[in-house]
Amino acid sequence: MANSKFEYVRLFEQQDGLLPNTWIVVRIDGRGFTKFATRYGFEKPNDKRALDLMNAAAKMVMTELSDITIAYGSSDEFSFVFHKSCILFERRASKLVSTIVSTFTAYYIHYWPTYFPDTLLTPPLPSFDGRAICYPSVQNLRDYMSWRQVDCHINNLYNTTFWSLIQLGGLDAKEAEKTLAGTLAADKNEILFSRFKINYNNEPEMFKKGSVLFRDYELVEPGTHNAAEEAENLAIPVQQSKTQAENDKKKRAKARVTVEHLDIIKDDFWDRRPWLLS
Ligand code: ATP
Ligand code: ATP
Ligand code: MG
Ligand code: MG
Ligand code: MG
Ligand code: MG
Ligand code: MG
Repeated sequence: MANSKFEYVRLFEQQDGLLPNTWIVVRIDGRGFTKFATRYGFEKPNDKRALDLMNAAAKMVMTELSDITIAYGSSDEFSFVFHKSCILFERRASKLVSTIVSTFTAYYIHYWPTYFPDTLLTPPLPSFDGRAICYPSVQNLRDYMSWRQVDCHINNLYNTTFWSLIQLGGLDAKEAEKTLAGTLAADKNEILFSRFKINYNNEPEMFKKGSVLFRDYELVEPGTHNAAEEAENLAIPVQQSKTQAENDKKKRAKARVTVEHLDIIKDDFWDRRPWLLS
């Protein structure tokens, strides 16, 4: 690169490398999607096409960025988790966030006609904001994931009841809001069942639990131990060879990305997939 008297301007760039050896979460969220959902006639409270489109875009983000271990999405948001050993872009926050946001947005627009074949997408086009957060421990990361899934559950129970009161109960938005003010989860379940014969448990899993995307590597049966774990239990030091580690990394990168709607709060999901957090 040519040196010039202008070069010094580089010194104005802020260092934004994220703390080493921490789990990086990049969460993106649709800008003004309340309005966007109305404009494109999203079904309320959950438009399945819109959720499938979010998942399809997120799947491509994961396919293109193999450092992402797991992703979780609901409504107009998605969280992408980079492994703590990730060194992509020297862990620069602006590079990681902007790459995720633009890759996701590009695929969201690319796949729009697949999920909304009868609705032409016209300006203003959908856009997303993004942020990066570092979590120093697996527990912090799992609590983050639990926080998002609890949020999905609370919002979905509220929205399902709110829209039932309007669509099936004939209430207007103000009346529905008033009916729900101060109600607990049990009250909402009761309203759904007694007034509309809706058993919340039978609602689609994607609506209740959101979507979790991960690389399907090898499913471990609960209760079985792998060699490393056994050695650890016996306090035998295990040194994974470099080639073994490299092979593992390649295998992970090649593994297909699956979309599921599972409980990620309980241990079971993580116990069965130890490679996600190792
Ligand atoms: P901001 O720009 O601050 O994020 P927003 O309008 O996008 O504003 P959010 O809190 O992100 O606000 O809420 C997302 C909105 O998009 C909600 O109103 C939600 O109902 C709507 N929405 C997102 N996905 C769907 C979907 N699949 N079906 C129906 N509505 C959806
Ligand atoms: P990185 O991902 O690190 O940015 P890069 O390959 O995008 O890698 P840049 O330094 O951004 O590297 O350089 C952009 C490249 O794209 C250069 O090789 C440049 O010549 C090429 N390029 C960009 N725009 C054009 C264009 N309009 N016509 C021809 N080549 C272009
Ligand atoms: Mg927001
Ligand atoms: Mg939003
Ligand atoms: Mg949102
Ligand atoms: Mg470039
Ligand atoms: Mg460039």
